[in-house]
Amino acid sequence: MKRTAIITGASRGIGRAITKALANKGFSLVLVYKNSHDKIKSLEEEIAGKCEFLSVCADVSSPNDAEKVYNRAKEKFGFVDTLINNAGISHIGFFDEETQESYNEVMDTNFRSAFTMCLLASKDMIANKFGRIVNVSSVWGQKGASMEVLYSASKHALIGLTRSLNAELAPSGILVNAVCPGVIDTDMNKHFSAEDRRFIEEDIPLGRFGKPEEVASVVSMLTDENLYIGGEDISVTAGY
Ligand code: NAD
Repeated sequence: MKRTAIITGASRGIGRAITKALANKGFSLVLVYKNSHDKIKSLEEEIAGKCEFLSVCADVSSPNDAEKVYNRAKEKFGFVDTLINNAGISHIGFFDEETQESYNEVMDTNFRSAFTMCLLASKDMIANKFGRIVNVSSVWGQKGASMEVLYSASKHALIGLTRSLNAELAPSGILVNAVCPGVIDTDMNKHFSAEDRRFIEEDIPLGRFGKPEEVASVVSMLTDENLYIGGEDISVTAGY
């Protein structure tokens, strides 16, 4: 079966690794990126010859931009059966310093983006009686974290979306799952000092940060046609 996936936040980190994993599986891909033109060009060069693709520059926290992405995907490939909601921002700070602006920024980027993309894609998936949706949540979406209240809440919301949407859409052949990475070696964590990093690594049973490819392999599995997993939030933490 011919497959088409939209991947948000495709240019770097976990999204880039997911893109390469799905390119190797022969998916047609819609690569959504916010502003890293150079990085998306180098990714296009890496996957060229493996699959068809379309890169779209968009801010998926904006419903208008998300709709533009979906329409461009439909124009190019005719259908979308797989949605990977990966775009996200981290946000660290004391709760009593949060504002309505920080709420909007974090919730719109980490949650509204996924809500909107699911809303757009689910109508066609229901009509086609097939779909795979993977939301990239976080270990903090499962456990909660001090000084990351908004981030954790946005990632909790993604898990709620995942469970409820799967309950509603699985009867139409659409399976919705979340992955919950622990600490992964991407730009999102480049602010850690060497000392902070060692401190965190001591708490990870495997003794190191995860690699983006180690998250991508789980996401890729959750896109399979042969799948009997739905509504789950799968930890990708090596036991952290
Ligand atoms: P990253 O910062 O390297 O990548 C995030 C990507 O999302 C970037 O390409 C960025 O441009 C894109 N993005 C952000 N806002 C966007 C917007 N409004 N519109 C379009 N694209 C947007 O970080 P990453 O570690 O690769 O993060 C990927 C996902 O994994 C995020 O949702 C993040 O919350 C989640 N995650 C990461 C970790 C970790 O330790 N790195 C742990 C748990 C969850």
